[in-house]
Amino acid sequence: MGAVLILFVSVLIAFGLLYSYSTINTYNFILLVLILLTIIITFFYFVSSMAIMYVYRRKRAGKLIIYFARFGLKMLFPLVTVLTGLFRANKDAIKKFYVDFNNLLVDTMDKKYSPSEIMILLPHCLQYSECGYKITNDINNCKRCGRCCIGSIADISDEKKIPVYVVTGGTAARNIVSKQRPKIIVSVACERDLTSGIADVGSIPVIGLINDRPHGPCYNTNIDVDVLKKKLENIIKE
Ligand code: SF4
Repeated sequence: MGAVLILFVSVLIAFGLLYSYSTINTYNFILLVLILLTIIITFFYFVSSMAIMYVYRRKRAGKLIIYFARFGLKMLFPLVTVLTGLFRANKDAIKKFYVDFNNLLVDTMDKKYSPSEIMILLPHCLQYSECGYKITNDINNCKRCGRCCIGSIADISDEKKIPVYVVTGGTAARNIVSKQRPKIIVSVACERDLTSGIADVGSIPVIGLINDRPHGPCYNTNIDVDVLKKKLENIIKE
């Protein structure tokens, strides 16, 4: 905080000196730099937006276009989120698009992984709320009674030998990821947690699956286990 304060004060002093001693040429130069910066930023936003639209429509693209689409997604998403807030639009719809498009980018990589390189990350709210078994330490504590989808996911994990973790929140998820360092994550969560999680893990690809919330947020949520299984089968090495 001290360093940032010193930086701002220094910039203020520099602007003050500039204001006192500047000529018309100085103003012209500053204006020129601002115009150039605006052109560069506009160009990147335009190219990135085009790349996003291209990948979204074609579902495939070359490495350069994918790079711009990925870059555009990272740059445009915060701006779009702010605008959505200002106009009171549906934030979940924007976040859903972000998750879907991120999944599309992961698909275009068309990479396969061994089971030990994959991590399944689940939110605690998938567990039936009345269930007394503690599955956040070890999903194998689940008795597979069928009252929630945890049992079926534990079966898939056993069958495919893919590690699965049930976490209570974003911090726990980040800790598990930094400890286990998977090569790819298949994560179930709500739109908000998935978008922040995808941004947090940075270089690790994440396939996001949005949970169903028939009883409202964070309570007895659900996921289509067949969809999860299919996503895993698409990325497992034969
Ligand atoms: S399937 Fe497992 S986690 Fe879900 S209610 Fe039954 S024992 Fe609990």
